[in-house]
Amino acid sequence: MDANCIFCKIVVKQIPASVVYEDEKTLAFLDINPLTEGHTLVIPKAHTVSIFDISADDFKHISAVAQKISNNMKTAIAADGVDLVQASGEAANQTVPHFHLHVIPR
Ligand code: AMP
Ligand code: ZN
Repeated sequence: MDANCIFCKIVVKQIPASVVYEDEKTLAFLDINPLTEGHTLVIPKAHTVSIFDISADDFKHISAVAQKISNNMKTAIAADGVDLVQASGEAANQTVPHFHLHVIPR
């Protein structure tokens, strides 16, 4: 855990979040400033900054979780489509330096 990282604080429940999925490696919670209703972030529990340092294993696992969440959005909130978005690095406008994959229902 990185003591200064807001998403690490969510992982250890130091700050609240609306968690929609959790397993031993991964957490998914609602974005505080959603682009659409149900906008979800999927993160590794281990502090990892971006696509450049996440392990291949964690990235695969997060992708599988994002696929499950996308399918749930289709049935549970009748999403017609889903955007998956991931920003790595300041140049890509990443604002929170803990890897997160956006799952945005459309
Ligand atoms: P990005 O610009 O790709 O780095 O996305 C960061 C996302 O994190 C933004 O969509 C924010 O709304 C979201 N965010 C920041 N702080 C929190 C928080 N405490 N809980 C939930 N989402 C957050
Ligand atoms: Zn972190």
